[in-house]
Amino acid sequence: MIVKFWGTRGSIPVPGNSTVNYGGNTPCVEVRTKEDILIFDSGTGIRELGNQIISEDNIKDLHILISHYHWDHIQGLLFFKPLYDEKYRISFYGPSTADYSVNMLLSSQMGNINFPLSIKHVKAKISYQSIYPNDKITIGNINVYSLMANHSSPTLVYKFTYNNSLIVYMTDNELKAEPAEDTIEYKSLVEFCSNCDYLIHDTMFDEISEISKKGWGHSSNISLANFAIESKTKNIILFHYNPDHDDVKIESLLEETVKHLKERGSSINCVAAKEGLEILL
Ligand SMILES: [Zn+2]
Ligand SMILES: [Zn+2]
Repeated sequence: MIVKFWGTRGSIPVPGNSTVNYGGNTPCVEVRTKEDILIFDSGTGIRELGNQIISEDNIKDLHILISHYHWDHIQGLLFFKPLYDEKYRISFYGPSTADYSVNMLLSSQMGNINFPLSIKHVKAKISYQSIYPNDKITIGNINVYSLMANHSSPTLVYKFTYNNSLIVYMTDNELKAEPAEDTIEYKSLVEFCSNCDYLIHDTMFDEISEISKKGWGHSSNISLANFAIESKTKNIILFHYNPDHDDVKIESLLEETVKHLKERGSSINCVAAKEGLEILL
């Protein structure tokens, strides 16, 4: 299995010299096994992934799992070329609420004042599946489990297993969420991530800004490091960077995280996601 990062940035794309190393595209992560392709989120990184897929002859089935519908997680989707090619079968998965369902993912964005093409231009065979917290589904040979995250909009955490590897995709999540009626308890998150091989997690804040941004639904690198120790995670991947954090800042967050883990006597490995990074499992 290969996990490849096509977009690592939170909130808004930030192209330019100061972000060229860790990348400016918004979230998109490809998981490819011998049999299946799963894509987590359709931020602007998915455009280039679409071009890659189009260049390969043997791909027909694609599975796109959306964590939530905040703009940064869906804004690349309409530029994903396989959508407009009848050769592909694309299955979408995502949270559904009383107000919005995953079935509206394309229709709500197309054919209005914001975009020139309408749903009739979509030629791929499309299907939709609502995912609810604590679901377990199987996509090809991959088992996918879900949990609700602590975020400002209903957001799913996805955990998937393949060939004894366990990976968690938990973008846009506040680890230090204040207890409230709808808060997901810290211990539930720890349990869900327990003993995972890789944890891909929101690193929107540093330790200082995390204090003033309580309730924003994001986390710092240090909260993530502490969480990884408690959940006995083996590797953490810093992800969903603040658009105001340039390469130098992300480098310093990475160094700080490694130092913190070491000071706590942990041997957890930590890397910072960057566009093009591939992890082989
Ligand atoms: Zn986001
Ligand atoms: Zn969000």
